[in-house]
Amino acid sequence: MMPLKDLYQGFRQPDVVKALAGKIAQRAAGLEKPLYIMEVCGGHTHTIMKYGLKQLLPDNLQFVHGPGCPVCIMPKERIDQAIALARLPGVVLVTLGDMIRVPGSKSTLAQCRAEGGNVEAIYDPMDVLKIARNNPDKQVVYFAIGFETTTPMTAVLVECAEQQQLDNLFFHINHVLVMPAMEAVLAGGESPINAFIGPSHVSVISGAKIYQPIIDNYRVPLVVGGFEPVDVLESVLMLVEQAVSHQVALQLQYSRAATYAGNEAAQSQVDRVFDIREQFNWRGLGNIPHSALQLKPALRHRDAEVKFAGHFTHIDTPDHKQCRCGDILKGLATPQECKVFGKACKPNRPMGSCMVSSEGACNAYYRYADRC
Ligand code: SF4
Repeated sequence: MMPLKDLYQGFRQPDVVKALAGKIAQRAAGLEKPLYIMEVCGGHTHTIMKYGLKQLLPDNLQFVHGPGCPVCIMPKERIDQAIALARLPGVVLVTLGDMIRVPGSKSTLAQCRAEGGNVEAIYDPMDVLKIARNNPDKQVVYFAIGFETTTPMTAVLVECAEQQQLDNLFFHINHVLVMPAMEAVLAGGESPINAFIGPSHVSVISGAKIYQPIIDNYRVPLVVGGFEPVDVLESVLMLVEQAVSHQVALQLQYSRAATYAGNEAAQSQVDRVFDIREQFNWRGLGNIPHSALQLKPALRHRDAEVKFAGHFTHIDTPDHKQCRCGDILKGLATPQECKVFGKACKPNRPMGSCMVSSEGACNAYYRYADRC
């Protein structure tokens, strides 16, 4: 069997990339109007910037970066709640690596930790079970984040906590859904987007079927595309082919792992643990109804928002007035249009969430500035 690293190299071959870019340019010459392609996921943005794909496209094809980075869309009040929890005596706040640098209203989890707050950054979510088991005298809170891709993992953790009777383990749930965010971008009416590259890892779990309303209700074509350079360019070519032939369809480029139906076992796992939340305030996009998840009533004893409700205070601090993360997440601006990009705001001292994670558009533009 071919080693995994060689398999990935196959999707990065310069001659294949060049041939695809040539074919795209040739077909795009037949477009009646420019195509503004939103790559919804930060993973795609990262690939586009890292491999200089933007520069390979003709002027009538533009990438527009979307709201699919879970770190970038995390609203300040959720970070504030995590900080409040980490400051409580006897509480350990556990979260995934990048989250600790995201600015809340006044501070970050990293600053909180430096000031004595009990914050543990992990890279493997399963470690949270070990932390709870090894600290029976502490209340351990897992700050769970991510789109449909990572939700099944949190569902597994919740069920493990129940089975293993880890009564000191709680969950602060920040799992969000990609479709309501895409609809919010389109419903705003300001965005020029007329094509989508849909996140492939979300589709591995939820199936390409979740995007059907984009085609049926908004008449915008969508291709579910993988994360390698050849995947992204092939997805662009599929969108161009649709546009020149006046088609609007849902297509699957990433057919090596995603299907229309998705992973039904993972979907049932999520359905057993979560309900849809009424409201969730997205950074940059505002309040979007039915766009996030919460634990089912039978699991409320694990819900940190219920357990520690009395410890949260809401501070209404607007984003830094020069930060354009909101516009970037809506596809209305590029990082370079922010006046502090690369000056006051850099990855080592981010002023906005889009500069924190490697999936954030500002971070990707900064890292690969030589390719912009
Ligand atoms: S460069 Fe920094 S301040 Fe400007 S939009 Fe990006 S994250 Fe916000």
